[in-house]
Amino acid sequence: MSNLSALKERHEQRLRIKRLMISVLSQGLILLLLATALVFNLLDNVSPTQYLFLMFTAVITQSCFWLVFKTNLNLRFNDPSLTLLQMATAIVWFSLMISQLPDIRGSLLLLYVMVMLFGIFQLDTLEFVCAGLLSLVCFGAVILFDVVRINSGMTIQAPALNISVMQWLILASAQAWIALFSSYVRRLSERLKKQKDVLKSSNQKMQHAHDALEQAMQQLDEVAGTDDLTGILNRRRFFEEAEQRLGDSERYCATALCMIDIDHFKSINDRFGHQAGDVVLERFCQIAANCLRTSDLFGRYGGEEFILLLPQTNQDSGVKVSERIRQAFAEYHFEQLAPGLHLSLSIGITLHRWSEPLEATIKRADEALYQAKRNGRNQTVYQSGAERLQGQMTPKSS
Ligand code: GH3
Ligand code: MG
Ligand code: MG
Repeated sequence: MSNLSALKERHEQRLRIKRLMISVLSQGLILLLLATALVFNLLDNVSPTQYLFLMFTAVITQSCFWLVFKTNLNLRFNDPSLTLLQMATAIVWFSLMISQLPDIRGSLLLLYVMVMLFGIFQLDTLEFVCAGLLSLVCFGAVILFDVVRINSGMTIQAPALNISVMQWLILASAQAWIALFSSYVRRLSERLKKQKDVLKSSNQKMQHAHDALEQAMQQLDEVAGTDDLTGILNRRRFFEEAEQRLGDSERYCATALCMIDIDHFKSINDRFGHQAGDVVLERFCQIAANCLRTSDLFGRYGGEEFILLLPQTNQDSGVKVSERIRQAFAEYHFEQLAPGLHLSLSIGITLHRWSEPLEATIKRADEALYQAKRNGRNQTVYQSGAERLQGQMTPKSS
């Protein structure tokens, strides 16, 4: 049994014990009322022994039920709540009590109806009718017992036979009515249960549709923020994410920004065609991505220009990253385009100044990039005040 079903079974068993406690309380209340009537001498016919007998039978039967539930013996039955058995026991016990209380027998008939209410949601129609018939048989037996005792010459206090028959008929009508009413209530509750199931399944469907929609929107959002050719962030998404990062925690740490431009890229297009140019762009992105951390933002700024935001990066480590990318790209051999073809990058790098707009940082990195171009390309230039850095190389081929 899975943990979940074991938990459910334990919960249901607790509910069954609770229902038993309701029946114990009802019986206790009846006994208390009887005891009060006895104390005030309202019942002439009941002796303390009879009262103790009733109490004893109640305690014995309810203890048996309690033991059965506590030892889980009830789980072996088709209906583990043992509703019909509990009702039958109560009907027999009430009949015993009623037989000893001829004075108030009429009003005690109400107890049979109370017992039926106990099973209104639990029993099916046949079981419910059987319980009703049992109450009629038991009450009939009480009347018959009176008649037999009177006919055998005993002097007992009992209602006249015609009154008893009338009481039996009233009980029969009440039981018939309650059987009809209970079948109506049961049908109503089954319909409600079905509606609840339908509602539950349409809720589940809606939840699935919602999840699928959310996933589709997420994919759409990713596509909308991705550059078609290279698969890295497009310019718009780079700006959105960079603004957000700079607005959050990164403003408290050094953040470097690089502008990267492929040198003499136009000549690749001119010599080998536009598709070859695309291959170079894709290859560059793969090489650069391999040099980056997952926390770095890498986007296509436009054409063969790229932009990098390096969070928690100071001047030294920013330049190291940029040089790593530049060298890795310079070492790559584009032999599929031409034997011995190597390309180079020019990179401008700067640090983001606290509270300055992103555009201002980009402008400074761009100035550094153009300084690198002016200096002869294939190099990184750092600009706070635009000084040139190490790593100048001459292109092997262009
Ligand atoms: P520099 O060293 O000064 O940067 O020279 P460059 O040739 O790299 O720069 P220029 O701005 O003269 O040329 C960039 C070229 O990049 C022009 C444009 O046709 C090409 N280009 C822009 N986007 C793409 C693209 O998506 N695919 C291809 N194949 N070419 C592109
Ligand atoms: Mg270029
Ligand atoms: Mg350019």
